[in-house]
Amino acid sequence: FNIEQELNTFFEKKIPYYKQRYSGVGAPAAYIPELKNTNPDYLACALMFPDGQVILKGDYAVPFTLQSIAKVFIFMTACMHLGTSRVLEWVDVEPTGDPFNSILRFELNENKKPFNPMINAGAITVASLLPGTDSTEKIEKVKLLLSAILDKDVSINEKIFISEWETAYRNRALANFLMENHLLAADVEETLLTYTKLCSIEITAEDLAKIGLVLSIDGFDPIRRIEVIPSSIARFTKILMFTCGMYNYSGKFAAYVGIPGKSGVSGGILGTVPPSFRNHPILSDGCGIGIFSPAIDPCGNSVKGIKLLEDFLHSYSVQIF
Ligand code: GLN
Repeated sequence: FNIEQELNTFFEKKIPYYKQRYSGVGAPAAYIPELKNTNPDYLACALMFPDGQVILKGDYAVPFTLQSIAKVFIFMTACMHLGTSRVLEWVDVEPTGDPFNSILRFELNENKKPFNPMINAGAITVASLLPGTDSTEKIEKVKLLLSAILDKDVSINEKIFISEWETAYRNRALANFLMENHLLAADVEETLLTYTKLCSIEITAEDLAKIGLVLSIDGFDPIRRIEVIPSSIARFTKILMFTCGMYNYSGKFAAYVGIPGKSGVSGGILGTVPPSFRNHPILSDGCGIGIFSPAIDPCGNSVKGIKLLEDFLHSYSVQIF
């Protein structure tokens, strides 16, 4: 049984199928003007295994921005510097059925905190906690974590950053509301700058697969054999991804796709398969998954990306419970 051949065959069949089947369904995010210019038909999948094996399929060379996936690194970086319990004094860990950028219920729960770090309100609060005197220093801390995981430098897509910055009316309102409620530890505009720039960091599906692999082994990089994220923080982050990572689709994603995931409005999905499958022919050691397809659904998740991921995990009977 040749795993590589098996997976190559699977994705070479499925990627053209999903491209065609969901062509014209959903659209690239329009509220960030620059994202509108992306080709909606891109579909990429990257898998990375603990033995270093990598599967790259479809439009895997096309870079895209983290968008909401940045929330994962904002949270982990804050926890690494402040300790998780101090971060959780500012933000809760409760899923919300509301959209990611909701302002409807002012996004504070009964404890007067943002619901969780995986939605905009929570991530903006956590971004304000990052160590540093200004946004440049705060951004640097998060970039350092990403570079440690990926073993390379990461950079910000300035065009996309500026496009979002100039139209960030909703996030600006959220940040001001948070400040009014004593839920920002730094200046409103500096915090927004930190958050928005981090959302504009450019990565590829392969990068996401690498991150997913490291998360799957609780922060350990099996290839370099070093810990890049403290294990307790990596584990906690996976819980947040599982319960809150896909906006107001998180419950359905957990039920029907069934792994910790985090999506961004750029069409990226970070997935992590923990190494827990007894005698599973392919995935017993776990893997990291990176998906990219820019047409998103009303919840903000990649249309083709979710379908492909669901099909892959079901076809190979991946169940984490
Ligand atoms: N930068 C985006 C925003 O704040 C990220 C949102 C997302 O990917 N859901 O609106």
